[in-house]
Amino acid sequence: MSQSPDNAVRQYIAEHRQSFLEDLTAWLRIPSVSAQPEHADDVRRSADWLAAQLKETGFPATEVWETKGAPAVFAEWPSDDPDAPTVLVYGHHDVQPAAREDGWDTEPFEPEIKGNRLYARGAADDKGQVFFHTLGVQAHLATTGRTTPAVHLKLLIEGEEESGSPHFRTLVEKHRDRLAADVVIVSDTGMWSETTPTVCTGMRGLVECELSLCGPDQDIHSGSFGGAVPNPATVAGRIVAALHDGHGKVAVPGFYDGIIELTDRERALFAELPFDEQEWLRTAKSYAAQGEEGFSTLERIWARPTAEVNGIGGGYQGPGGKTIIPSAATLKLSFRIVAGQNPARIEAAVTQWVESQVPAGIRHTLTFSGATRPCLTPLDHPALEAVSRAMGRAFEQPVRYTREGGSGPAADLQDVLASPVLFLGISVPSDGWHAPNEKVELDLLMKGVETTAYLWTDLAESLRT
Ligand SMILES: [Zn+2]
Repeated sequence: MSQSPDNAVRQYIAEHRQSFLEDLTAWLRIPSVSAQPEHADDVRRSADWLAAQLKETGFPATEVWETKGAPAVFAEWPSDDPDAPTVLVYGHHDVQPAAREDGWDTEPFEPEIKGNRLYARGAADDKGQVFFHTLGVQAHLATTGRTTPAVHLKLLIEGEEESGSPHFRTLVEKHRDRLAADVVIVSDTGMWSETTPTVCTGMRGLVECELSLCGPDQDIHSGSFGGAVPNPATVAGRIVAALHDGHGKVAVPGFYDGIIELTDRERALFAELPFDEQEWLRTAKSYAAQGEEGFSTLERIWARPTAEVNGIGGGYQGPGGKTIIPSAATLKLSFRIVAGQNPARIEAAVTQWVESQVPAGIRHTLTFSGATRPCLTPLDHPALEAVSRAMGRAFEQPVRYTREGGSGPAADLQDVLASPVLFLGISVPSDGWHAPNEKVELDLLMKGVETTAYLWTDLAESLRT
């Protein structure tokens, strides 16, 4: 009796699981910490190791791409079907710093398998999730009888993600033509939980700024002058108070212009997720949920733009009192933005609004830094449907959708390459990203392998029609 295709994939994966884990473990031993200069050689060694490993996997072209910082790895495996769509997989090979004394039970760079878990820095973020693509494409070939993938497959594995991707956009712009793709798949996120597989469909963007407010040329006596000149700390307080209206909405005029609203279907799908607000509050180390009226907590963190005061300062902060009108005050503000908003328009709106808030006699400077665009893939995009079908086959249950409230380099890929971005990750919240005792669940890791074993055939068909 002939096997069903899914059984053939599972059998192939089971047969190769051991050597896959041995290879991954070897990679995890390289402490590729991009933030620490003493590990610069290790990050390079990690790139070289991966390039060699991808060559061994079968990628005909693998290259280490230099940046002004740490190197990235590029690999390409063209399909023998010239009309096949092109997929670019993104991940990163650098890791967060880790030391035994941070609270690890084992050495962070001496991987250990305990039960169904593999413990090591980078096990989930992101080496494990990059690595499932290697066995995945091999299983795809072995079980379809193909000699090349059903899609033109490209991989871009960055070396500076954990350091804020300072050279990533330049790298993508430089290699724009080599990286061109019909769809980008980011494998650097997670799922809702072990029992609720999900695909993330978008991330928020970010605009950051600092406002300095200057009043008197120096701190002055509040008795001699108070009540007769403007106080920059009072102005800072007024601006903070005016940032939101009484319904939790950002009060900057034009802030919401053009945003892509949640569809009824998305809202319904979010509402079906097994979300426990009390438990979430414990994770948030907070004591009440609060935000824009008319939206649930998940909608607020995934799909609504925000304004936050990250820091506020000015005037006397020492012990006792000091009766002054301070000379200056500062505010650090950040705005999470969603699809339909863009950093340049938000910066212009905030600039204009701040000007309208600052009274005569207060000089101000507003400085923006480090903007990231949002990204979003519509639920009915054929590539997204293919990813959730492939994942559903691997997990043997329907896949739900989430978004990510944070911001990342994926937006640069969407922006420079003008391609939709999808997120395929198998990590779960307990994996301990950036924390001691980071781990990956081996069963889920193998589901990641299995998902990609199905995905390339499905994507080739879905994107062709
Ligand atoms: Zn990561």
